[in-house]
Amino acid sequence: MTSAVRPYRQILRRPSRQIMVGKVPVGGDAPITVQSMTNTRTTDVAGTVAQIHRLEEAGADIVRVSCPDEESTAAFHHIVKQVSVPLVADIHFHYKRALEAADAGAACLRINPGNIGSADRVREVVRAAKANGCSIRIGVNAGSLERDLLEQYGEPCPEAMVESAQRHMRVLQDNDFHEFKISVKASDVFLAVAAYHALAEACDYPLHLGITEAGGLRGGTVKSAIGIGNLLWAGIGDTIRVSLSADPVEEIKAGFEILKSLGLRHRGVRVVSCPSCARQGFDVIKTVEVLEERLAHITTPMTLSIIGCVVNGPGEARETDIGLTGGGGGSHMVYVSGIKDHTIDDDRMVEHLVGLVEKKAAELDAAAKAAAEASAAE
Ligand code: SF4
Repeated sequence: MTSAVRPYRQILRRPSRQIMVGKVPVGGDAPITVQSMTNTRTTDVAGTVAQIHRLEEAGADIVRVSCPDEESTAAFHHIVKQVSVPLVADIHFHYKRALEAADAGAACLRINPGNIGSADRVREVVRAAKANGCSIRIGVNAGSLERDLLEQYGEPCPEAMVESAQRHMRVLQDNDFHEFKISVKASDVFLAVAAYHALAEACDYPLHLGITEAGGLRGGTVKSAIGIGNLLWAGIGDTIRVSLSADPVEEIKAGFEILKSLGLRHRGVRVVSCPSCARQGFDVIKTVEVLEERLAHITTPMTLSIIGCVVNGPGEARETDIGLTGGGGGSHMVYVSGIKDHTIDDDRMVEHLVGLVEKKAAELDAAAKAAAEASAAE
């Protein structure tokens, strides 16, 4: 059901300017994008390209790559040519790296203009960004606030973070540069959420959401889901990165799960499954684990319910594209488009469901293509 007929599901997005990160729009009415960052050595071109390809396959819209030295920006030049996802060059301080990365094909520079140095250097970076069609991300972090702000406010707080962001914004605005997005990250969820709320009030630039140094796979995902999810639910945020001490591919998966949970974006199969109990007609946990693995290649947004018994099976199946409800004697009911269709036994269940999902995905893709062609012809 869409949010239009279920008002309690409606999220009103904060109106924001739209900028481009390469070919990907960020802000305005563009879909909320999911990003990650490579953790290979940038100078290892083959390794970095391989990791970016894995991120692309997982659905990454944008990927960030660190450029700490001249060798890295030289490698960045080769990396850009071998991937299709837009790359953000992570610069931080050295304006020369920013110039090199812009010339090397970066779609966006992650640099804080207030840290670049003299007005001449800032002008040079802005000129290089404009000449190469690069946008910029201002990245304020509670852990590295300017000393005078810390003295003034006593500790990292939302007001200090917004003031820091505004200083960096002004540097770009004074150079007539407006193609930027901003993040105000903190590892403390309360601080990050409050800072983003205040920043959302203070400007209309697109916001990049993240809870920094969130932790490992499980703890970091939960923490990010609370922080990022809370903001997205309030309509704030145009692009997200879940920071995890884990394989960057997990960051993309977690990012999409957050968006899927809020109905903000759908990619791939959303599995609805029960926790299982003594009533289960088949091993729900094992089946879901295998199906998630086997269906990871599906990008079409669709739903699959895997429910252990008739207590909740038929009800959930009614709301999903494909549904399975556990029955007695190793024979289970399959639902297609919410309607009871046929039974399947334990042995062939997984293979059968994979086939059904693939078929349904192809049908949905064909229908979407036909609809797009019809609207283009109008
Ligand atoms: S749907 Fe059935 S098997 Fe699953 S948890 Fe509920 S009662 Fe147990």
